[in-house]
Amino acid sequence: MIFGPLEIFLCLAPFMLITLSIGLGLWAQNVSLDRREQFRGQIQCPNCRKALNPEAYICRFCLRELYDYTN
Ligand SMILES: [Zn+2]
Repeated sequence: MIFGPLEIFLCLAPFMLITLSIGLGLWAQNVSLDRREQFRGQIQCPNCRKALNPEAYICRFCLRELYDYTN
């Protein structure tokens, strides 16, 4: 029995689909993990509640100082 290109493709197609879907799933998981990590590393502006870089001292949305230095 001789396999033509079509038979070979049909045999390999399910494996390719599985590999592709696993790859896509892992990629999507990585993206969502990255987003969560990014959000966890951020702080919230006490004035406008927007997420900010933890090293920021002025909110880039409402331009208010995050920490009161007058005390
Ligand atoms: Zn703000």
